[in-house]
Amino acid sequence: MRTWSRKRVVVTGGAGFLGSHLCERLLAEGNDVLCVDNLFSGNRENIVHLMGNPGFEFMRHDVTFPLYLEVDEIYNLACPASPIHYQHDAVQTTKTNVHGAINMLGLAKRVKARILQASTSEVYGDPEQHPQREDYWGHVNPIGLRACYDEGKRCAETLFFDYYRQHGLAIRVVRIFNTYGPRMHPNDGRVVSNFIVQALKNEPITLYGDGSQTRSFCFVDDLITGMIAFMNSPGDFPGPINLGNDHEFTILELARKVIALTGSSSPIVMNPLPSDDPRQRRPDLTRARERLGWEPRIPLDEGLVTTIDYFRKLFQKG
Ligand code: NAD
Ligand code: UDP
Repeated sequence: MRTWSRKRVVVTGGAGFLGSHLCERLLAEGNDVLCVDNLFSGNRENIVHLMGNPGFEFMRHDVTFPLYLEVDEIYNLACPASPIHYQHDAVQTTKTNVHGAINMLGLAKRVKARILQASTSEVYGDPEQHPQREDYWGHVNPIGLRACYDEGKRCAETLFFDYYRQHGLAIRVVRIFNTYGPRMHPNDGRVVSNFIVQALKNEPITLYGDGSQTRSFCFVDDLITGMIAFMNSPGDFPGPINLGNDHEFTILELARKVIALTGSSSPIVMNPLPSDDPRQRRPDLTRARERLGWEPRIPLDEGLVTTIDYFRKLFQKG
């Protein structure tokens, strides 16, 4: 029988990289967690350790189809996040973002649940303002290869704010900047996992372009703390709030760090830059600091060591 004081929380995309960490933390904090995922880019391995927990349930479901449940809170993370995965079936990516948002917002409206959207720094596109503040409208190519993700996420934000204004829904929109850590998929093509996997195998490090483009990398534990803090924040401030780490590195610097920390003999090899690849990215975190009292705490070197250790063990297991 359910203990009624516990919150019933849905995490869509809960079998993915961020979602699995979120499920884990929500369970540890005493909630009942329903993980909803179609396993497109996530997998059971990420949540297998949670299966024995009586507060945890997994449901294989595609959020582009309606879902009827009784819940208190919804974290909407369903959507492949790596460029390789989201461009693999671009139409499905837009559907996941837009139809998925409509279905989850409809659910939240029916049961009066609070709902958080995992939006992204990609809503700023290839930004002309640096660092990126939440009041910047962005610079996005609406017809490029990244558009299914960028415009899908922008449309989802529109839907969230229209449900907020039109139906008084309790929404929270977070714009997540590049986040890394254990349980990233080894083949999902994102830069941190790519470089670590290549370094551990002593294979060439694939630098796209000359590596002068920048990103700011947030360790997963910091990100999850910020997301939960925002969901639980009092008042009805809907966001958006940037979450990430505001220490900026060139991609070449990242490659060199990974080589040094793994002791790898990998050479760095230049490859063509993918289209619409943002030149620079760094969050302005003033709003998160002021509203949530939140601060990213884990420096890149420390987070990389933990992540490298995870991939080492993964490869040892075979
Ligand atoms: P991920 O690919 O590991 O996880 C996404 C999960 O969503 C996967 O488990 C996948 O199977 C599931 N999914 C995809 N389409 C679905 C559908 N139609 N129905 C149900 N489930 C579906 O990626 P992640 O890094 O964990 O990202 C999680 C969320 O955070 C995404 O919405 C992403 O856009 C957002 N985000 C992540 C980052 C980052 O750096 N990791 C940055 C910005 C935004
Ligand atoms: N990148 C790279 N080599 C790789 C994978 C990515 O140089 O093997 C670059 C990519 O071109 C981009 C940055 O690293 O400039 C971050 O890429 P990622 O796909 O991780 O995230 P996003 O571009 O969405 O920030």
